[in-house]
Amino acid sequence: MQLYNKLSAKERAAMIEEAGEDRLTLSFYAYAKIGNPQLFRNHLFVAWDQMDVLGRIYVAHEGINAQLSVPAKRFAEFKEFIDNIYFLKDVRLNIAIEHDLKSFLKLKVKVRKKIVADGLNDDTFDVTNKGVHVDAKKFNELLDDPNTVLVDMRNHYESEIGHFQGAITPDVDTFRDSLPIIEEDLKDHKEDKNLVMYCTGGIRCEKASAYYKHRGFKNVYQLEGGIIEYARQVDNLKLDNKFIGKNFVFDHRRSERISEDVISHCHQCGKPCDTHVNCANEACHLLFIQCEECAKAMDNCCSADCKEIAALPYEEQKALRKGKGNSNKIFKKGRSEVLKYKQ
Ligand SMILES: [Zn+2]
Ligand SMILES: [Zn+2]
Repeated sequence: MQLYNKLSAKERAAMIEEAGEDRLTLSFYAYAKIGNPQLFRNHLFVAWDQMDVLGRIYVAHEGINAQLSVPAKRFAEFKEFIDNIYFLKDVRLNIAIEHDLKSFLKLKVKVRKKIVADGLNDDTFDVTNKGVHVDAKKFNELLDDPNTVLVDMRNHYESEIGHFQGAITPDVDTFRDSLPIIEEDLKDHKEDKNLVMYCTGGIRCEKASAYYKHRGFKNVYQLEGGIIEYARQVDNLKLDNKFIGKNFVFDHRRSERISEDVISHCHQCGKPCDTHVNCANEACHLLFIQCEECAKAMDNCCSADCKEIAALPYEEQKALRKGKGNSNKIFKKGRSEVLKYKQ
């Protein structure tokens, strides 16, 4: 039985191209108690590989978090399969607005300790005691209420290119960092204000809302399905759109545009721009915002130093990297001294 990928990303891309069939990009998650994640992982891989599902899926004792693409014509089959898993029956499927044929090029199902790297200790509070889930319509109503405090639960580089009007966007690198900051800011309003939160697909709010309830907040709400689902409902139901800019997503597209507003700036020249790139110097790989002119002038690099390194023959670059950790990627996502216009 085949339990892992055999095709390379390149071969897969060629195959998808050739097949020319529509694929749906979607995501879902569920907190559940999974006794044997490895066994469950194998079960998913065997079934989905056979359905030509591609994507990145994390399985843990605490549940599942999946981002994947499914051939449109096999969607019914896929849906039936997950409906047969008791904790996934009728799970919300966030279906992306832009359907890109190459969102994912492999099927990777991984067993992890947690489905979200949130740094929170589960034992300290009850994660099932979460906030009130609201849909786009109710969310808009809450935003019109002057008694509402709206908080963006994402990281700085995500909210930078798009967020809800009037949202507090903590300048943090990780989800965990934002929790105490927000609590401190709102400590005098634990009982009288509506604490409304949102994130990309809703998963971070599942835990954040439970955390705030545990910390004594009385009126905690979360946007169900996150920005992805909000955009879908606004579109389908012709609701007022209160999200400005782009929604940062975690597949190769990096973002999907929700409104025409460009709210951020090129980190190198300062002109309006909301396109994220990774520095072309493999040893740097810094995530930052770069306009087309700067990309051209800098050979897709974040700095003159990186430009110099990226121009070296591959073998020389490799020799330079030897023994050095890739610190930008891990600790400085979206931040660097070389970026003049990064606030
Ligand atoms: Zn620029
Ligand atoms: Zn760089």
